[in-house]
Amino acid sequence: MTYCKYCGKEVESHAFVCVHCGGKLKEEKPTTVDNPSHLAGIVSCCFPIVGVILYFLWREEKPESAKLVCHWMLAGLGIWFLFYLYGFLLTAFSVRL
Ligand SMILES: [Zn+2]
Repeated sequence: MTYCKYCGKEVESHAFVCVHCGGKLKEEKPTTVDNPSHLAGIVSCCFPIVGVILYFLWREEKPESAKLVCHWMLAGLGIWFLFYLYGFLLTAFSVRL
């Protein structure tokens, strides 16, 4: 036996709904833990392809994590782009010199 958190009356411990007041005692299905991890984000930043995979894996279950990974991935792509642009410019200039 346990007590209803809404009305304080005794209810069956396995009951999902209080028989006295109808208050929901337990969630019908456990919600998946969605605490965005910045570690996954940093990995996605270094390897944007990982970010793409994680984004599609998490899009349904963990929208917050998917969004975070997506932002990191875009930042990573930007950094890679600048890196290649810098390398390209260096090569272009060294060829001329
Ligand atoms: Zn109750």
